[in-house]
Amino acid sequence: MAARPAVAGPAAGAPRPAGGIRFDEVSVAYGGTTVLDRLDLTVEPGEVVALLGPSGSGKTTALRAVAGFVRPAAGRVLIGGEDVTDLPPHRRGIGMVVQSYALFPHLRVEQNVAFGLKAQKAPRREIPGRVAEALEMTGMAGYARRYPRELSGGQQQRVAIARALAIRPRVLLLDEPLSALDAQLRSGMLAELARLHRELPDVSILYVTHDQIEALTLADRIAVMDKARLRDVGTPQELYRRPRTEFTASFVGNANLLPVTVTDGGARLDGTELTLDTGDALPGAAATLCLRPHLVGLGEGPNTLRGRITEVQWRGATHRLYVDVGGHRVMADVRELREAPAPDEPVALHFAPEDGVLLAAGVSDG
Ligand code: ADP
Repeated sequence: MAARPAVAGPAAGAPRPAGGIRFDEVSVAYGGTTVLDRLDLTVEPGEVVALLGPSGSGKTTALRAVAGFVRPAAGRVLIGGEDVTDLPPHRRGIGMVVQSYALFPHLRVEQNVAFGLKAQKAPRREIPGRVAEALEMTGMAGYARRYPRELSGGQQQRVAIARALAIRPRVLLLDEPLSALDAQLRSGMLAELARLHRELPDVSILYVTHDQIEALTLADRIAVMDKARLRDVGTPQELYRRPRTEFTASFVGNANLLPVTVTDGGARLDGTELTLDTGDALPGAAATLCLRPHLVGLGEGPNTLRGRITEVQWRGATHRLYVDVGGHRVMADVRELREAPAPDEPVALHFAPEDGVLLAAGVSDG
């Protein structure tokens, strides 16, 4: 995690070139271990892209390659079309916010926010106005004279965001910016970040998170990372409705993943024939059927799966049923169930043909 604030950019007052980030086959290795493997990804000007993946998948490394804190072993990083691979961090025009806020404890809020402007040698007379503007944007105008220790965690993070915005960056890098906050503050800050983005429509945002809700809420597109590789990229809706890999299916939302054989008009799960859109899958091929639990209903239907209840969890708005279907565990999230079935009871489950997604076997291995 970067301990120092990366706030610097083109000379203050100069016209800001368009943003946009491009990873051109970027690889990063530490001591011979590749932690980022040929990342190819573009963030358009004004776009929010979330890098989503489990811990250790290479997300922060990708972000730090944009910031200039790690040097790629191969490939190029471009910002606004310009190759910045060899530029030092303070010449890249980026603002960065990290999980730990990284505010200077001995500086007042206004001095913290002014820090990057001074580092990039903004004209002195411009600094107070730019600091006030950034604090205004983040709702911290009334706290300019305080020290970080006099602020809550959420307020400190707002100051960190104000500091990143003060330099009017063309690219904003956010590394798990909400993970130090409690759940309620997090959802408030998520709305705030969405608002800030609307106010800064030209700024490209790269947002690192392991939290799918943050990614689904905020991102125009999500790039799913696993084990140093980009596994999938698409809009939140695309990845949720039509995941391409088992990894994406289970990391973005919940998924039932069932081993099936492709048939002419669908798939076969053990002895059960199912009707599905098979796309370009070839009959006879092994595949994985992805079913979202909330799209599985109780009772018979067009595609019926028979099994026995193993567990029922009440989740307020839904019941989560766990059903053993011929040795496969199937989850169904059922609404408005007056009487929940008891464990061991035989049940029928069904799903609509358009709600089953076939994933080619082996795609998850990249
Ligand atoms: P993520 O952000 O997805 O959690 P990171 O990009 O931080 O993942 O890390 C990816 C891999 O690189 C991890 O295995 C991590 O231990 C390793 N790594 C990160 N930074 C360093 C470093 N400075 N030196 C050695 N290994 C590192």
